[in-house]
Amino acid sequence: MTARIIDGKSIAAGLRGNVADAVHRLKRDRSLVPGLAVVLVGHNPASEVYVRNKTKAVTEAGMRPLDLKLPDTVSEEELLAKIAELNADTKVNGILVQLPLPEQIDAQKIIHAIAPEKDVDGFHPLNVGRNSSGSPGLVPCTPLGCVLLAKTVVPSLEGLEAVIIGRSNIVGKPLVQLLLSENATVTIAHSKTRDLAAVCARADLLVAAVGRPEFVRGHWIKPGATVIDVGINRVAGEAGKSRIVGDVNYAEAAQVAGAITPVPGGVGPMTIACLLLNTMRAACAQNGFPVPNI
Ligand code: NAP
Repeated sequence: MTARIIDGKSIAAGLRGNVADAVHRLKRDRSLVPGLAVVLVGHNPASEVYVRNKTKAVTEAGMRPLDLKLPDTVSEEELLAKIAELNADTKVNGILVQLPLPEQIDAQKIIHAIAPEKDVDGFHPLNVGRNSSGSPGLVPCTPLGCVLLAKTVVPSLEGLEAVIIGRSNIVGKPLVQLLLSENATVTIAHSKTRDLAAVCARADLLVAAVGRPEFVRGHWIKPGATVIDVGINRVAGEAGKSRIVGDVNYAEAAQVAGAITPVPGGVGPMTIACLLLNTMRAACAQNGFPVPNI
């Protein structure tokens, strides 16, 4: 079998186009321009690239970007004061603080300080609780992107055996709730899981969010399964250059799976598209407007 490639880049482009259309209508009919503030502390090269990409995507969607770059010497108090300013600014509908933060700052304290209705990353405990209890709230972008990608292959996830490898607060744990709400049967595996290969072999839907290059082997995968690879790992490439690979051994998995996301070009672009979707939804909710159905 040769797996169908789930083209995250073009699926994300479609979603971004739909968000841009909704933003256009909000501007035209309600004079609302959703605004997203992206806060970057310090000069982490990967974070700088992520922030640049996010800001570009916000502009392309017709929304208002607000870039806030702070030195890595900024104190926790100063950052909290900035968050308070953004919370109070009615032109800002979404706030994203790029992680990781320098060690003098407690990231949890910062996440807790963001107004839950502007928490477009979906990391605030109130949104985590809403997600767990099935109430409407802002949902983390990467897990949301994983579900949307899986549904392009299997429109109904009801009754499927889903296995997630990785239990982080930003990917694995929120994804459990999203897949449960789709009526999948969900198993979450982690570094202490026994016989991981056997656990994976049960999966109709396998999501890898491990942070280990090409960790999931082809023979772990159930023939015909849908595989979503969240991993972004930089490894040594040819001629002294580096390249990006996922958490799944793509060459092996593509021989067995029914469908698979590539890395790059899979989950990554969907994460940004879902951030735009969350910002547009947050702006509508904050202004009491119906949220466009996308
Ligand atoms: P994380 O916080 O480091 O969590 C990794 C998880 O993998 C942990 O739960 C860990 O288990 C588990 N794990 C580690 N080694 C394992 C092993 N040998 N067997 C089974 N499980 C193992 O990572 P994360 O933040 O969720 O990110 C995961 C990957 O996704 C990274 O490559 C990251 O760069 C990527 N990512 C991509 C996007 C995107 O937009 N595409 C977004 C976020 C993250 P324990 O809990 O037991 O330690």
